[in-house]
Amino acid sequence: MTIQHNFSLKKYNTFGIEAKAKEFVAVHSTDELKSVLQIHQKKPKFVLGGGSNMLLTQDIEALVIHIDLKGKKVFKEDDDFVWIESMAGENWHEFVLWTVNQNFGGLENMSLIPGNVGTTPVQNIGAYGTEIKDTFVSCEAMNIATQEMKTFAKEACHFGYRESIFKQEVRNQYIITSVIFKLTKRNHKINTSYGDITKELDKQNVITPTLKDISNAVIAIRQSKLPDPKELGNSGSFFKNPIISKVDFDKIHALHPEMPHYVVSENEVKVPAGWLIEKAGFKGKRFGDAGIHKNQALVLVNYGNATGQEILNVSKDIQATILKEFGIAIETEVNVI
Ligand SMILES: Cc1cc2nc3c(=O)[nH]c(=O)nc-3n(C[C@H](O)[C@H](O)[C@H](O)COP(=O)(O)OP(=O)(O)OC[C@H]3O[C@@H](n4cnc5c(N)ncnc54)[C@H](O)[C@@H]3O)c2cc1C
Repeated sequence: MTIQHNFSLKKYNTFGIEAKAKEFVAVHSTDELKSVLQIHQKKPKFVLGGGSNMLLTQDIEALVIHIDLKGKKVFKEDDDFVWIESMAGENWHEFVLWTVNQNFGGLENMSLIPGNVGTTPVQNIGAYGTEIKDTFVSCEAMNIATQEMKTFAKEACHFGYRESIFKQEVRNQYIITSVIFKLTKRNHKINTSYGDITKELDKQNVITPTLKDISNAVIAIRQSKLPDPKELGNSGSFFKNPIISKVDFDKIHALHPEMPHYVVSENEVKVPAGWLIEKAGFKGKRFGDAGIHKNQALVLVNYGNATGQEILNVSKDIQATILKEFGIAIETEVNVI
């Protein structure tokens, strides 16, 4: 467990931004995590998983703790379900593939999302009609100040759309060390309702899809739509899809009847931020090395040597334009540091 000084984070964030950590340490067990927190009690700390949901706009003047706790196991099982416990530093996609290969159902629609298992509850990750909250049972987390362990059951996590208690009430207070998921062993709930999954399965002549077929279909769709961070720096969807009041929606919809939307409740409607950004003319635009992806207006990209500040400026420009043109305030999904 060596502390490294003035450590480059370029390879530790999927935007590929050059930023330095004043101090950096990778922890491989809860004991190591505990002793790092005890020894460096007084220092400000910053928790780093896979770096796939952050925009680094400056060097980090804190001790960066990279969560690298590995391991997974069957926690318990019955005839129908299996409870799997994974340590926080496991790579999410590899973990999903492992569950699919064991024929454990529930995570297959979230194949190929970058990042670590331990970060998945932070923003209640989701894709193709499934969210982590659908299979999440509980997580273990260490209190940064006291090093006491606490179990957060599902209800305590206050999961919402890309939201949880870890982004709100207990932000920067806990480090998640492991997560338990409840997955099906049989009678899997195959979910093909969202996006282009059915189209992709048709293309592959799959009539009765297995978990593996769903996972493969999701991987194929994502690879065709989203830039691979290894080739083009990005952090996935930069903004959340805004949820607006029905009253506001009706006004905007009257002017733009083609606007796609999704009714959330009697009084609320969700609008795709990507559509708003495209409509405002940003799709495919480039400002130096910062830009908006040519196929996915929701994805901001680093063409090479953009700084975090340059990408942030582009995002602010987009937000201001959407507010002016549609009266809608769009929030970032990515953590701006
Ligand atoms: C190409 C691409 C596609 C994506 N697609 C999706 C998608 O479909 N759906 C989706 O929901 N997201 C998506 N994302 C976003 C991202 O993959 C997820 O948010 C992921 O869970 C982030 O994990 P990470 O380990 O990389 O987090 P990091 O970026 O390392 O950290 C994110 C935040 O969580 C905190 N954190 C990290 N680890 C812990 C921990 N153990 N305990 C407490 N706090 C912690 C960090 O301090 C930071 O504030 C995508 C990203 C990319 C690059």
